[in-house]
Amino acid sequence: MRRISPLILLFLCQYSHVFAYGVEGHRIVGKVADFRLKSAHAKENVRSLLLEVHAESLGDIANWADEVKYQRVPKPDDDSETIAFINEHPKADTGPWHYVDLPPGTKRYDPSTLPTFVRSNDIVHILQHCIYRLQGKTEPDFPISEVNALRMLVHLAGDIHQPFHVASGFIDESQRDPAMWIVTDPVRATKLHDDAGGNRLILPSKKNIHMVFDVDLVRSAVGKFTDRDTAIKLSKIRVKNTGHMLGEPETWPAQWAVDTLTEGRKVYKSIRITSKRSETERPSRWNIVELPTPEKFEQANIIMTSRQLAKAGARLAAVLDTIWPD
Ligand SMILES: [Zn+2]
Repeated sequence: MRRISPLILLFLCQYSHVFAYGVEGHRIVGKVADFRLKSAHAKENVRSLLLEVHAESLGDIANWADEVKYQRVPKPDDDSETIAFINEHPKADTGPWHYVDLPPGTKRYDPSTLPTFVRSNDIVHILQHCIYRLQGKTEPDFPISEVNALRMLVHLAGDIHQPFHVASGFIDESQRDPAMWIVTDPVRATKLHDDAGGNRLILPSKKNIHMVFDVDLVRSAVGKFTDRDTAIKLSKIRVKNTGHMLGEPETWPAQWAVDTLTEGRKVYKSIRITSKRSETERPSRWNIVELPTPEKFEQANIIMTSRQLAKAGARLAAVLDTIWPD
């Protein structure tokens, strides 16, 4: 979930079923990591950090980062670590921590060549801060306790594997044919406005495509199974690049983002803008269709969503195993 105003959030929370499956995806990623942790040292450290916030599993803490996203004032039932987090970041809008808007044609996450798109508070940078904290390093510019770094890491490891949390289409309306309006090339995208990670692209079902990937496709991937059974199944999947990455753990989030971009490119190739919804609406939104057919689009992306949940959980476990090896 991203870029939702506090008012709309309040509205969504009243209809918790609308919101619940976004929660489900994160919980599954946490549970997959619970099953895949190998290092006894990592298991012990995770267990003792979880105890600080009365949690038992990574799945239990996977949604904390969304819960505190718009919170400025502690609530009566907040744990002491949540209160500490809100006090440490009193003015921070932590919504932008959950994503980065990269043109889908981007091949590397390189702040020096992508200054327009990369932010010091984007999802890759925040994940790096969390990994540093769990390695025992403290950064004066980014105060966070160990357990809060773990809660943020578990959540953002999920978000960074959702294609629309990393890829964003850039819109060039100067072309006559709306089918040509989505720009994926980073050089061309530099001067264009983006679609807010698909939040401004509306499917024939009237849903925005970002939400479909956050919620609907996760629900379809889980189907009639429980979250636990789904996590057990996904924890056994072996896909390329699942688990350990190259180099030091703090460099892994950038590699995760680049890998997710390959999925983002496929998704952007399989949608077309058909029209602008309104000439007066600000910010603009656009109508899109799925290619080659809605059914095939859905089928392909249910499979992709399952694979991304599996990868996210496996990579989360691998980073924790690497921070605290046996
Ligand atoms: Zn999030």
